[in-house]
Parts: sequence; C-alpha cells; structure tokens
Amino acid sequence: MLIESMTRQASIELLKRARVARLGYVHDGQPYIVPMLFAYNVDYLYSFSTEGQKIAWMRADPRVCVEVDDLVTSQEWETVIVLGRFEELPPTEENETLISYAHALIQRRPVWWEPGFVKTIVDGKERPLETLYFRIRIDQISGRRGTPG
Ligand SMILES: Cc1cc2nc3c(=O)[nH]c(=O)nc-3n(C[C@H](O)[C@H](O)[C@H](O)COP(=O)(O)OP(=O)(O)OC[C@H]3O[C@@H](n4cnc5c(N)ncnc54)[C@H](O)[C@@H]3O)c2cc1C
Repeated sequence: MLIESMTRQASIELLKRARVARLGYVHDGQPYIVPMLFAYNVDYLYSFSTEGQKIAWMRADPRVCVEVDDLVTSQEWETVIVLGRFEELPPTEENETLISYAHALIQRRPVWWEPGFVKTIVDGKERPLETLYFRIRIDQISGRRGTPG
C-alpha cells in the first residue's frame, strides 16, 4: 500500500462530493466532533443549523477543523482535513444575498434539510427549529490518498 499527498484540487473535489463531514471544534480545552453536511464553494464550506451547543461553542471559539473521507477499502481511500474559521451569517439585510446563495448551494445536496433541520427531542424536550446559516472559511487544506500496491 502507498500513501501520497493529494493536490489542492483533488482535495477540493473530495470536499465537493463527500456525503458527510466531521466538524471539530474546541471549548475550554475540550475537543468536540459532530457529523455535518457542507457545500463547498470557493474557499468556504457552507452549512446550516439550529441553535445549540455546537453554534454556541463555535461562537466562543471560531477555530474549527473539518474532516471528510472516502473509504473504499483499508488500502484504497482519500481523506481531507481543513483548518478554518466559523463565520455566522446572521439574517441581516447585509447578509441577504449571501444567505440566499448559501441556501441555493446547500439545497443542491440530496435531503439537504435533514438532519440539520428536523424535529429533535433531547431529554424529552423539543429543540426550537430556527434556521441559522454559517460558513467555514478554509485557511488550510491537506489531502492524503491510500492506494493498493
Ligand atoms: C449525516 C448527518 C448530517 C448532519 N448534518 C447536519 C447539518 O447539516 N446541520 C446540523 O445542524 N446538524 C446536522 N447533523 C446533526 C448534528 O450532528 C448534531 O447532532 C446537531 O446539529 C445537534 O448539535 P448541537 O451541538 O446543536 O447539539 P444539542 O442539541 O445542543 O445537544 C448537545 C448535546 O447532545 C450531544 N449530541 C449532539 N449531536 C450529537 C450526535 N450527532 N451524536 C451524539 N451526540 C450528540 C452532545 O454530546 C451534547 O451533549 C447531521 C447529522 C448527521 C448524522
């Protein structure tokens, strides 16, 4: 088996086609990871959420890490790691165009509204459903590819 670096373009291609990403961030020194859906476009990953721990914690510390992978076998795979910054897109007049753009971009993904925007019951209580758009500015990107042989 051989492991090689991927070019920036090949890494971006994986970001574009990945079904699920892992979003990592830190709160008071505690690392934390959640599965998320993103849509890539020119140096940004767009997504949406409802209010919750993840948003509160990224507001407090916007440094994040996103991992995506395409695991075919233990010898044939691609993984990409992005280091970046959380940028909230609050529903202001100023952000209107950007939010419509983010919405259109995310909407291209199959069942894009789930599970980011679906009835969620935690400890017997229903979470409020208020959509919030955000994006991750990509500061650094690296990719590795494993091939058999
Ligand atoms: C394939 C996939 C795609 C997803 N895409 C999106 C998306 O685009 N947008 C989006 O907002 N959410 C998405 N989710 C859901 C996301 O992973 C979180 O569960 C959700 O956003 C709630 O996070 P929160 O921090 O607001 O949790 P809160 O409701 O505030 O709850 C925080 C508590 O719940 C626990 N918790 C939260 N999420 C999970 C989890 N997934 N597994 C185990 N424990 C958990 C935490 O440990 C913490 O104790 C996706 C999940 C999957 C599986």
